[in-house]
Amino acid sequence: MAYSERMRFAFLIYLFASVTSLHAEKPFDFASTPGKLPKQVRPTEYAIWVKPDLKKLAFAGRETVKLNVAEPTHELILNALDLTITDAEIDGKTVPKTAIKFDAKNELLTIATPEELTPGEHTLAIRFAGKINQFGRGLFYTKYQEQGTGAKKMFLGTQFEATDARRLFPCWDEPVFRARFQLTAVVPENWMAVSNMPIASEKKVAGGREVEFQPTPSMSSYLNVFCAGEFDAIESEVDGVKLRITTTKGKAESGRYALEATAQILHYYNEYFGISYPLPKLDQLAIPGGFGGAMENWGGITYYETALLFDPANSSAATKQRVYEVIAHEVAHQWFGDLVTMAWWDNLWLNEGFASWMGAKCTARFNPQWEVWLEKGIPRDPARRIGIAKEQAMEGDARATTHPIQQKVATEAEANSAFDDITYKKGQSFLRMLESFLGEEPFRDGIRRYMQAHKYSNSTTADLWNALTEASGRPIVEIAAGWTEQPGFPVVNVSRESNGKVALSQERFTVNFRDNTDATWKIPLTYFIDGQSAPATLLMSGKMATLEDVPSDRALKLNVEGAGNYRVAYDEASWKLLLASLPGMNVPDQVNLLSDAWAFFQAGRQPFTFYTGLIDRLPPSTALAVREQIINAFNSIDRLLAGAPGQEQFRRYARRVLRPTLDTLTLQPKPGGPMTASLLRASLVQELGLLGDEEVIKMCRQNFENYLKDRSSVSADLRASTFAIAMRYGDAATWQKLHELGLKTTSTEEKQNYYDALAFASDPKLIQKSLAIALTDELPTSRAVFMVSKVARESDRPDLAWEFAGKNLKALVAKVDALNANSYLPSLFTFFYDPARIEELKAFAQKNLSEPSRKPVEIASDEILFRADFRKRLIEQMHTLQ
Ligand SMILES: [Zn+2]
Repeated sequence: MAYSERMRFAFLIYLFASVTSLHAEKPFDFASTPGKLPKQVRPTEYAIWVKPDLKKLAFAGRETVKLNVAEPTHELILNALDLTITDAEIDGKTVPKTAIKFDAKNELLTIATPEELTPGEHTLAIRFAGKINQFGRGLFYTKYQEQGTGAKKMFLGTQFEATDARRLFPCWDEPVFRARFQLTAVVPENWMAVSNMPIASEKKVAGGREVEFQPTPSMSSYLNVFCAGEFDAIESEVDGVKLRITTTKGKAESGRYALEATAQILHYYNEYFGISYPLPKLDQLAIPGGFGGAMENWGGITYYETALLFDPANSSAATKQRVYEVIAHEVAHQWFGDLVTMAWWDNLWLNEGFASWMGAKCTARFNPQWEVWLEKGIPRDPARRIGIAKEQAMEGDARATTHPIQQKVATEAEANSAFDDITYKKGQSFLRMLESFLGEEPFRDGIRRYMQAHKYSNSTTADLWNALTEASGRPIVEIAAGWTEQPGFPVVNVSRESNGKVALSQERFTVNFRDNTDATWKIPLTYFIDGQSAPATLLMSGKMATLEDVPSDRALKLNVEGAGNYRVAYDEASWKLLLASLPGMNVPDQVNLLSDAWAFFQAGRQPFTFYTGLIDRLPPSTALAVREQIINAFNSIDRLLAGAPGQEQFRRYARRVLRPTLDTLTLQPKPGGPMTASLLRASLVQELGLLGDEEVIKMCRQNFENYLKDRSSVSADLRASTFAIAMRYGDAATWQKLHELGLKTTSTEEKQNYYDALAFASDPKLIQKSLAIALTDELPTSRAVFMVSKVARESDRPDLAWEFAGKNLKALVAKVDALNANSYLPSLFTFFYDPARIEELKAFAQKNLSEPSRKPVEIASDEILFRADFRKRLIEQMHTLQ
């Protein structure tokens, strides 16, 4: 049963309410939407023709754009980047070359019109040429080895979000300028071409085949897609929509699971949103490189192969789960993002927070055994810290360097930087808290109203709150403002008083800085009293509140199942009662207590023994999420203690805590066990191996030897951990073997496993060899660059990784995609704990980085300071371990 149905509402007592100074933004209005482009000219229809030249890595193009002019004007201002314009016409009249001006810095194209454009319809025609890129922006190419034949092949794809459609064709490249797009492309004779809409017609032309696609409905420019290559495909249909999974040749059957999952997901959303999927078909393409994630292009979603393909014989359970979740996220965007689009990038969270929440909700509904709300979430890059999605967001949000969910975005670089944990994961976490509070049905009704009101149009956060307020009758705008418009989140302090009263107070929860503001949140609190059946809710509106009638001998737990985006600090009496009730508590609540205890230790509010004391009191169990929390915490402690006194003592303690769970699960997999057991075994084997468990290390080495002889001897779930530990304690020969396997395989998932393992080498000579891979074309560019951050993390030698990056700056940066462009280099410093590195980073940034990297530099500097302090505290307190 869903949690929200079990809730009842409790009495709410205000002691005092602070007046909030936050003001929600306005509902969507075209004219006042931010952006660089003037609003008096709007494109309504584009007809675009492109012809790629694979040898020259360039393309020729032409387009006709129908315009609606609202006020008389003498110029057209639109976006273009890295394009040359060969000629332009307005209403059939040639525009002189001198009337066409590029502003490269602002990515603008200005065309002075030969005559004043009067209000009404006009037509712009342009001929242009551009480049096919190596990095995943605009039109890009990827080279890959074909499955089966091993032949080197080329693939073309596009990636436009946030602001790169302008690299393929001149356009009004801001989300509010919706239009219909009709694409025609010339591709080699034997290639298949895919775009947002079905093919309207095809014909043979000089140099290949000309494919004309049907026009799209009204949509934002960044949602266009064009992919072409030697493809295979499998198809099905659901609710009248044609579904197709397209892969490079030889891989289509690995798309079977994705095809089946999509049918389930699309049908669920048709019902949930109350509007059926609006296009005649949904293509999903597995692409072998170019960019690392997945992109929700309307009707033509692109995925990096590992996010879409699942091979039952060789893929891990983790891959299966990720595939489902990523599809659920991207398909949710077909409504939330594509059918209704945020007006401007300052509301990006509307797209991403919502798709993350909706994707997780859908995944949890059809896969209840996966503990979806407690699992890792979708990492945006492979070097990112792991941990529950909500916790990842809260870690960053507790720092001085955080920002509100809604933030001002003025430039293209700022739009690209907005794709971060706060936007995705705090957004998701806040929506989950709100849904728990309102109840599933009122929340869904609000979403349906919102969809109806804004379909084929744009919206702001205010529009969503208004729809939810209408559906639920509750003041959502007031509740939401504190969460989306101010940075950070609260900790609720719980203190028992006499007569069954419990006093609650709130303050901002911070790590590594002191908050001087008087921020408060309207907190939709949930709580339960041990022994009383139903959880209750309380909207805590001010600094303080009181709970009544709480028996003094009963445990009181706030933040039921950890669904709320806040922490809870209990007084001693309450904590003792909670510890005593721990054995009967459900897994999500146990994980919530562990996460809070860990955060309090990080924040310096509690000593290490507070966290370890909780671990000691946990009942023995093999619950995945509980153990994963501990594994993640131990992993970061062990890294921070590298080379420090006390590391050995810590490792002994950590092994003692973790090993019994592995023994219960058994070291070698048992056939037919639950998927969570399989995932937990893999995590435990890897962590215990890193912590120096001799038996586990021996087993991994043996398993690796066996694997070389017979692939099926190591289960797919255990491979990544086995390779990592074999490499950590291996030599040059191990490195060589893994590398050979990596070079040979045409499976992207397997390739990733082998190369990931190379990052675990500990011999400096081998570390250098692993780093050098980043400069080769052995991995797709978007993956290759992350070899450096992976080595920095896994080898415990961030100094070598940084030294390498410093020497190869240009070559590395040329491979980084739009979303990582600003943070890639600064993020390499987040693995250091020596404050002297801050000066080094700042000096480096001054010399080599541009303004948009300022924020990532601040974040990295703050992380170094935090790590220095945390390491010091860890070393001081290590003797407290039993
Ligand atoms: Zn998304």
